[in-house]
Amino acid sequence: MRQIQNYARHDLALKAYFRQPGDGRLQPHIPAGDLVWAVVAGHILRQTSFPQLEWLAHSPVRAELGLRVAFGDDALAYCTERMDPLTTRVALAGAPRQAKRNKAFENSRFIGLAADGTGAGRTGKPACSLCGPVRDGKGQVHGSLHHFALLSVVGAGLTLPVDVEPWGPGGSEYAAAQRLLQRAVEHLGPRFADYVVGDGEYATAPFLHAAGALGLSVVARLKENLPLLAAGVRARFDGQTPRAVFQEGKDRVEVWDAEDFDPWETLDWPAVRVLRYRQHKPGGEVVQAEWLTDFPIARLGSLSLYRMAKSRWEIENRGFNDGKNRYGMEHICHHEPNSMLIVWLLILLAMVIERLYRLRHPHRGEHPLRSSIDLLHWLWLSLGAHSPPDTG
Ligand SMILES: [Zn+2]
Repeated sequence: MRQIQNYARHDLALKAYFRQPGDGRLQPHIPAGDLVWAVVAGHILRQTSFPQLEWLAHSPVRAELGLRVAFGDDALAYCTERMDPLTTRVALAGAPRQAKRNKAFENSRFIGLAADGTGAGRTGKPACSLCGPVRDGKGQVHGSLHHFALLSVVGAGLTLPVDVEPWGPGGSEYAAAQRLLQRAVEHLGPRFADYVVGDGEYATAPFLHAAGALGLSVVARLKENLPLLAAGVRARFDGQTPRAVFQEGKDRVEVWDAEDFDPWETLDWPAVRVLRYRQHKPGGEVVQAEWLTDFPIARLGSLSLYRMAKSRWEIENRGFNDGKNRYGMEHICHHEPNSMLIVWLLILLAMVIERLYRLRHPHRGEHPLRSSIDLLHWLWLSLGAHSPPDTG
């Protein structure tokens, strides 16, 4: 854990952040840097509740974890309620920027950003301002859920979450994702990413225009919410032989691809390019989907566009699934809106540090790449080896 802490401080340039993570307490007794590092280190070790972090901070491995002082779970709650999320957001976006400088993405021609929304932290307790009611088919309320949009670096061999934006009752994923994209591009820098990829609900003129104004191309799923374009695509591609056929891994992929569809009336693009793919899996399953983009064919071939469309799944698999199943994103540490937001951001920071350390650490030597679970076991074993329990 000390190695990872050094890696985060120096290689990822997070030293200043861990010294001053945006503490808003007036008379702090426990340094905020220790509390924040405890949350990050704890989540890397998959210890995801504040009482578990308190237990680690009082254990014989405290120093080996990189913590200077012990503290209780109430200190974590009090501090995270009062932290300014902006400081953590800037730090979080700084890590992939630093990784890009360290050539972590050098085998990728394009870097993508994927946006998607989810709900987490279901509770039956009295509602906070971010609680959205969970209704059944009859409209009856059964507890509440917290919603947020996530933005992640995708399509570059390394899925790195960048930021979250919650929305409460009256808000929407669509509005949250626009705020998120705007802010993340500000923090990542204007030329960090090349495109943004999202599901059908992002295929609206305002979102496409907003992305364009940020210097990003868009790859968005085409669904029936654009009925004229969808009908035009069917009229053109149905019955036509595919433009190309690729072997992609074990799948055979047929593609149809044309860049001269008419834009719908509110869209200011001169024309719309649509890719249809029909993916034949070895078991006989066939997946067909259509995606729209403003990437010209001359700049991006059909196979590359197919891969970009598929990069959307990274946010599902390596964002939400890993976040919830491995890093405790479903768990509410402290049911208070700012504390929940800070913990979500720190979970993302834990995921980013773990991935970059495991997959891109320049001092790995000849070690083969470790799987996430291998690293986890190795960390626990090395903590125990450095600090054998006191048997006296
Ligand atoms: Zn709540």
